[in-house]
Amino acid sequence: MNDAIRALPKVLLHEHLDGSLREATLFDLLHARGLPCPAPDPEALGRWFDARTHAGSLVDYLRGFDLTVAAMATPAAQQRVAFEAAEDARAEGCVLAEFRIAPLLFEAHGLSGEASVEALLAGLRRSRLACGLIVCAMRHLPPAQTMRAARLALAYKDHGVVGFDLAGAERGHPPAEHVAALNLVRDAGLALTLHAGEADDAERVIEAIRLGASRIGHGIRLADVIGDPQRGHLIDQARMSGAHFEVCPTSNVHTGATASIAAHPITALWRAGLSVGINTDNRLMSRITLGGECAALLVHTPLALHDLTRMQRQAALHSFLGPEAKAAALAALDRHAAAPSSST
Ligand SMILES: [Zn+2]
Repeated sequence: MNDAIRALPKVLLHEHLDGSLREATLFDLLHARGLPCPAPDPEALGRWFDARTHAGSLVDYLRGFDLTVAAMATPAAQQRVAFEAAEDARAEGCVLAEFRIAPLLFEAHGLSGEASVEALLAGLRRSRLACGLIVCAMRHLPPAQTMRAARLALAYKDHGVVGFDLAGAERGHPPAEHVAALNLVRDAGLALTLHAGEADDAERVIEAIRLGASRIGHGIRLADVIGDPQRGHLIDQARMSGAHFEVCPTSNVHTGATASIAAHPITALWRAGLSVGINTDNRLMSRITLGGECAALLVHTPLALHDLTRMQRQAALHSFLGPEAKAAALAALDRHAAAPSSST
């Protein structure tokens, strides 16, 4: 990572805790729980993920989570994973971060949703990084499960849970299936971000915005309508809504949503005037860092460092954390811009 990227204060809004474990931690946790590990050491475990990473489909990509979810299903493991994720983000210059997970996934392994959320929040609080937790529901499960996840999120609304999301395989599972839970969350004043327009079409982005999402996970299919006489107005709708796009470049390559970083539509979305940020999605599954994502964009796209700096500011403005954390992140970006060595 070059020095300019290392020095850039970063804002991370989209990272799945169960997709971002350190390899050594996952290795430890599998052994501690007596679970089968597909590799003899942490390095080999990394290579195991590497092989799955390039499966080229969202469904295959999501299979690696079976391993991490089983490994993480104790309060101690949850706390450790959350703490380490926050510290890893802080170590590479994050000044604000939001992490997400679907706590109800751990019920099948004997850990309640409440115990999961409490342990994750305890782990995040141990870090000095300003951070919060987004509760996800899995969109392929019945709406009643989404409602349970929504109620769980609301129970911790003023205790570290800052938002609600629908995650998992997108195509065939539109957010409208879960409208009751989304209404409950929105009406209670908890912020909504929804995965949309990743594996499904641009129209899903607009649907998510109509359902109350102020941020969109990925949303890159919206770039397909730029210049389209029939669908081009969708870009205008998205821009006028003020929604922020949590773009995860390498993850999109790994799930087959785009062919390469060079072909990634982030530049088109940015130039269309949308609010865009840069995120990791899954550090472990994609074998990446946030700084590495920034570096890849500088190398392979027309985006310049000043674009990336403005994207951090956009992300800070759209964070679900409180005004103090947002102001501190923006102040860090201001200090960075004013520093003599800054080339932004
Ligand atoms: Zn995601």
